[in-house]
Amino acid sequence: MPCSRPVSLLVAWAVLLGGLGACQPTRTLPLRPEGEAPALRYRVTFVREPEPALDVELVRVREDAPRDFLFTQPGGVEQVRVSGPEGVERELPVSPEGGVVVPRDTRVLRYRYRLESRGGRRHSDFITGMGEGETWHVAGRVWLLRPRTVTPSLRAELTVEGVDALPPWEPDASGVYHLLGGDLVDSGFHGFGGRRCTVRLPGAVLEVAVLGRMSRMDDAALCAWVRQAAGEVLTVRRSFPYPRITVRIVPVPGREAPGIFGMVLWSSPPSVSLLVGQDAAPESFVRDWVAVHELLHLAHPAILPRVAWLTEGLATYYTELARARSGRQTPQRAWEELLAGFARGRADVGSRTMEDVTTHGASYQGIYWTGALFALDLDVALRRVTGNTRGLDAVLARLAESGTTATFEEFGAAVDAVAGRPLFQELLAWHLSRPAFAALEPLLEALGVESGPEGVVRLGAARDSQVRHALEVRAEEL
Ligand SMILES: [Zn+2]
Repeated sequence: MPCSRPVSLLVAWAVLLGGLGACQPTRTLPLRPEGEAPALRYRVTFVREPEPALDVELVRVREDAPRDFLFTQPGGVEQVRVSGPEGVERELPVSPEGGVVVPRDTRVLRYRYRLESRGGRRHSDFITGMGEGETWHVAGRVWLLRPRTVTPSLRAELTVEGVDALPPWEPDASGVYHLLGGDLVDSGFHGFGGRRCTVRLPGAVLEVAVLGRMSRMDDAALCAWVRQAAGEVLTVRRSFPYPRITVRIVPVPGREAPGIFGMVLWSSPPSVSLLVGQDAAPESFVRDWVAVHELLHLAHPAILPRVAWLTEGLATYYTELARARSGRQTPQRAWEELLAGFARGRADVGSRTMEDVTTHGASYQGIYWTGALFALDLDVALRRVTGNTRGLDAVLARLAESGTTATFEEFGAAVDAVAGRPLFQELLAWHLSRPAFAALEPLLEALGVESGPEGVVRLGAARDSQVRHALEVRAEEL
């Protein structure tokens, strides 16, 4: 789930990438007979000379192991060397689509992914390889050769040598990652090298890799920033949505903004990466929204198939509420941010209907803020029909009981269950058929949110001001 306010080009590119990822259900390793070998064994070695690269040795451990392999995002590796039982090597070309089919008697595949020649220091390189020397950020989909199709029972083992790695998965005591086929398909973000810190919340841990140096800030302050954002997820959900996740922080040279860009990939568990300005001042992180926005994506299920306006709408809406609930910003400021965002969205989509916007697309501002207004209206509608006792938080809690993914229809059913009556389809139909921001003014008036000159908002008594107050505080404070 990519997010960025300032760079629309990057966002279009990132939305495309995000759209390519599939999602997988909650991780459960299938039972297997004691001692049965995995089908595939990856040994990854970080090499420094002549340039930083990942050398991959992939052993087909069992005869029934897959033979048809694929780089999910092609272009990074052109040749794979394969060898049979006698060890005679031959080279096979990787097709332009990233595929390679190996002979039946292939035991071992070897290839090299060159980090430096594929990536660099620009922040558009963070998928293909962003970093230098011994510190790199890269997405698994560019370097990890995976079976074209995987079965639920496919198992693999992976080790990394020569560098401290932070993929999404937790290794066993000997450093081996035990993977399912789905982990190879949705392999998330990977950090190599850098430094580490651990953020602990009740019932959850965030393993953080700092992949580069900041000019004005130490690692402890960076990790405190992640801690703050992760704690704000707990203003929406009673417990952190995953027991362990990984976060990679990548400083971008020559930039002073704190959070520049962030993205969640739906590996299992999800992996989060955040780009930050290398020259950002410590105090600027207080106003940052990127980290909390990305971590708030963990509060909703991955919607399958992907419905960007809904998931981005939820995260965008909650980004402002969660920072008010934690006390990082005042409720007044939260409403000012929401109104400014709605204005940017409306400026982008004009009088287009929500149906047109969500079907035919818009800039990310148009999509995100159309979704955020729908989320606000939905939250208010739920509170109106439940006597202001339950809202969107309850919908997310209910969905979480069923796992980490949901369909759009399941999302709607959870809304109706919390409402105690059909609500979702009716509200959606109302929005879809009207200009995307048609609900805004009546909603603000009912909530007692009055916008004044220069973006200053005044909060006052109105029909639904108690509902507004409920949105601004965490559930247990009610
Ligand atoms: Zn997002």
